[in-house]
Amino acid sequence: MIRACPPAAAVVLVAIASTLACSAASARPEGCPPGSRSDPARSARIATQLAQALAMLAHEPDAAALARRWNPAQPALCFGERNEAREQERVAVLSDALDDVNAAARAAHLLHHHHVTPVWPAQPTPSCAHKVARAMTAERAAHALERAVQRVLGARVAQDADRPGLQAAYAERCRRERAR
Ligand SMILES: [Zn+2]
Repeated sequence: MIRACPPAAAVVLVAIASTLACSAASARPEGCPPGSRSDPARSARIATQLAQALAMLAHEPDAAALARRWNPAQPALCFGERNEAREQERVAVLSDALDDVNAAARAAHLLHHHHVTPVWPAQPTPSCAHKVARAMTAERAAHALERAVQRVLGARVAQDADRPGLQAAYAERCRRERAR
């Protein structure tokens, strides 16, 4: 079996340079949530595409903010059936259906949730309307960054920013949380 990264115990023994070279690919297999898995080679390809895109978008504040705060190893990229930010688990799950360029664009969206504007911060808000409005603002900014990454990487840019039902889903999530 060919390993992309040395096992954890060996990392201590190898030069720091090789550890750094491996950081983009060191997704913790045990850190991927059930139904998803790590793919160090794919993670590294996506991280490279995303880094190039963010460099080309350095004039855009959200891209610049993400470039400053993003560590390619944190959160880990995992792969599964659907895209999920998984902020609490420090993991971003990307859909198997995406090619590398569109996965890089989606990663920008999910990492925006992790590092730039959390969609669902823990702080209390005066009302569900307020919390949902804030979530939708965060989603629109993440979608704008996703489209910008698609554009600079030459992918077809999706027109529809808001997933149908997203606002209603956030409203329901808030209602459930407050009912606890
Ligand atoms: Zn989102």
